[in-house]
Amino acid sequence: MTPVRRKETTVHVDRIACNGQGVCAELLPEWIVLDDWGYPIVRGDALPADLEPHARWAVANCPTLALKLRKVRAGGSPP
Ligand code: SF4
Repeated sequence: MTPVRRKETTVHVDRIACNGQGVCAELLPEWIVLDDWGYPIVRGDALPADLEPHARWAVANCPTLALKLRKVRAGGSPP
């Protein structure tokens, strides 16, 4: 029997592309806070399913396309 490989969603910021305006922290405050310079600090653990719509909205509204969602295998490794 083949084991089921569960996937999780994590949130990432491209720190080169990010301009630090903080839109993401306003749209996903449960997962993103800003540092003293206004740049996002993102939780690295798996995003709960009920926050995924908010996270997708934050990604869609990032002005520099720096915010991304990634699907990873449960436990942290990329698929
Ligand atoms: S919305 Fe995008 S550009 Fe703005 S702080 Fe967040 S990741 Fe950076």
